[in-house]
Amino acid sequence: MSLKITNIQRFSLHDGPGIRTTVFLKGCSIRCPWCCNPENISDLPQFYFNSEDCIHCRECSEVCPVEILKEPRDVLTLAADELAYCFKCRKCVEGCPTGALGIYGEKISEEDLMSTLEMDREYYIQTGGGVTFSGGEPLLQADELLNIFKTLREKDIHIAVETSLFAPVSCLDLIIDSVDLFIIDVKILDAELADSVLHANLEEFKTNFQMISRKNKDMIIRFPMIKPFTFNRKNIDSLMDFIGDYNIKYIEIFTTHQLAAKKYDSLGWEMKKQECIKEEEIKELIDELEDISVEVKSLNFN
Ligand code: SF4
Ligand code: SF4
Repeated sequence: MSLKITNIQRFSLHDGPGIRTTVFLKGCSIRCPWCCNPENISDLPQFYFNSEDCIHCRECSEVCPVEILKEPRDVLTLAADELAYCFKCRKCVEGCPTGALGIYGEKISEEDLMSTLEMDREYYIQTGGGVTFSGGEPLLQADELLNIFKTLREKDIHIAVETSLFAPVSCLDLIIDSVDLFIIDVKILDAELADSVLHANLEEFKTNFQMISRKNKDMIIRFPMIKPFTFNRKNIDSLMDFIGDYNIKYIEIFTTHQLAAKKYDSLGWEMKKQECIKEEEIKELIDELEDISVEVKSLNFN
């Protein structure tokens, strides 16, 4: 079996305890308007083009056997047209000397993935770290992950899964016993808004959350502070009520990061502008959470 991934990030410090390797899986079940990893939304491979890395050598146009790349940026239009004329020979990508042109998404075999993950085993042991599966939505590839988790457990490597929990309960059921830590993205806690904004079924989230709690798994909550979607009085009150009922290790809060803008541009998409959240507003949220005895960590991805 193979996994659909976009990236493997070694020496990651923000995705669970210790030094970790984070595997970003391709394909997501929901559509957050503020998504910071747009290359992980579709589960299909996607061309990208970074104009600032292009030296205008035209190598990509010259090697294209069907001559559909008049300009390198054309790959983005081809993607939108479902690559109607492109037969995915990858010659343009392989011919690009600077990496300006590329493809988000690849399939990696269990064996290749394991050999990368095991490279940093000593660091995991020394720092209490391990491997984190993020995305996209890892639960959508539960079948493929099952065997990898089994191998990681045999090697005593800590496993974390970062998930929005918007996936069929059968997916979670398949892997839950193998996972040491769930990093759960809590976004919108109103069913109608979850449906209209995220295209997500809140009942699915709640059912999965309860299952993790019943199994006494370690849980960290991640809360993206996004105006007006998540960072509003009603949603923050719902968040307080919700997490108050569960035993969580701590909550991580963060705003969207500007690094994502470059990724949107590389896909030919426009990143929606976010309203700024003031330092005082963040401080107020931290105080409120600490008042209900929840430890808060403020993440800075910029
Ligand atoms: S993948 Fe091949 S056919 Fe498609 S645009 Fe690139 S060179 Fe042309
Ligand atoms: S091969 Fe790469 S650097 Fe050269 S024109 Fe195409 S995208 Fe730009």
